[in-house]
Amino acid sequence: MKSMRYVITGASRGIGYEFVQQLLERGDIVDAGVRTEEGRRRLESLKHDCAGRLRIHALDVADEASVRDFADEVLREPVDVLINNAGVPGLWCALTDVDYADVVRTFAVNALGPLRVTSALLPGLLRGRSRKVAYVTSRMGSLSSNSDGGAYAYRMSKVALNMGVRNLSNDLRAQGIVPVLLHPGWVRTDMGGPDAPLPPRDSVRGMLNVIDELRAEHSGRFFDYQGAEVPW
Ligand code: NDP
Repeated sequence: MKSMRYVITGASRGIGYEFVQQLLERGDIVDAGVRTEEGRRRLESLKHDCAGRLRIHALDVADEASVRDFADEVLREPVDVLINNAGVPGLWCALTDVDYADVVRTFAVNALGPLRVTSALLPGLLRGRSRKVAYVTSRMGSLSSNSDGGAYAYRMSKVALNMGVRNLSNDLRAQGIVPVLLHPGWVRTDMGGPDAPLPPRDSVRGMLNVIDELRAEHSGRFFDYQGAEVPW
């Protein structure tokens, strides 16, 4: 099969870095967004042996101008698959300690960032061969799975993301775009922490399988990394 062109946000470490690694391993082309120079340097090491299939771009998903510059670079060619992965944990505090500025920052990255990136890259997706857009969300943003409270910023930002993706599914259906929400599992990254049971490799392998199998009827749905439907 001809290689596809993937765009990934938050590629400097964790799940995003692993997406880049696995896609390069299987021969695909990757445009990776990184927020800092340190992130760029980390990703540079993957450039060896991939024959120019990795391009690294500056991207802060919470910054309008940065997303515009990113889109200018990426839109030189069609985009086959977009993976909105960038995210922040926010402060995990109880009701009395909620830092409202932190909640706003967390929303800006987790909820508004993916929307902004999708909107900016839409012309590229419409020229692409698959029109799939994956959003890395979390079961923490599932209303029916929440039985323990806390983590206001993170939970509320992911719920907002989930609604945004359901909306995109309705708005973009006529254009054949398939947006889908993915829960990666509890993954051993900076965000997931050292006790998380799942190595990034297994989570990403599972999510890539789900993305590979996506069809029009999956638009706007919420799956975990093993392809099981997650309750809203
Ligand atoms: P990490 O904290 O390890 O990595 C987060 C990534 O997002 C980094 O590359 C970081 O870049 C990037 N990022 C943060 N803010 C921005 C921004 N404003 N613009 C662009 N990039 C940004 O997290 P994970 O890899 O674990 O998480 C990836 C996704 O998976 C997130 O959306 C998260 O919510 C979700 N998730 C993770 C779970 C887990 O158990 N790990 C569970 C459920 C969901 P930088 O290095 O520059 O900070």
